Amino acid sequence: MLIQDGIPTSEDLSKVLPPQNRLETGPVAMAECFQKIPCNPCAKACPKKAIHVEPDINQTPQIDFDQCIGCGICISRCPGLAIFVVDLTYGEDTALVLLPYEFLPLPVKGQSVLCLDRSGREVGRYPVVKVTPGGNKNLTYVISVAVPKSLAMEVRNIRVGGDNNE
Ligand code: SF4
Ligand code: SF4
Repeated sequence: MLIQDGIPTSEDLSKVLPPQNRLETGPVAMAECFQKIPCNPCAKACPKKAIHVEPDINQTPQIDFDQCIGCGICISRCPGLAIFVVDLTYGEDTALVLLPYEFLPLPVKGQSVLCLDRSGREVGRYPVVKVTPGGNKNLTYVISVAVPKSLAMEVRNIRVGGDNNE
């Protein structure tokens, strides 16, 4: 449960998931941001004005999925590492997950990395497609990982280094 272990339940997630028909049209962001805190850099960063923190800064963000183009800019702007982009149209059997990453070593393009779910459970080893710096002194990177479509809503972190398979 979120309040006890920080892991959202399926009920929590149902409130922030893009609808299936939107997911099937291309990359789209989801903000797994569930607690009311005074925070809105995600909304300020979005070039499409697709993220709304209203009527005041203490509210949780709401994404207008029809406005979102899945650019991923908001991912590195979120101090809570709570935003992900999912692209179910990436391949026939493969989805792209864009996730925030702040550890070293960084992965490199083409590297097969251990993918983790929201609880830290290992769900498989999949290739990194892109490593994007946050830019302008922002040390949060955006890592794009190609995963089986069945894991697109499961993979939310990666682990790099620490074993002999890297
Ligand atoms: S992915 Fe891009 S368009 Fe979508 S909410 Fe984030 S910044 Fe806005
Ligand atoms: S920047 Fe991150 S933590 Fe802050 S409101 Fe947006 S999604 Fe939530």
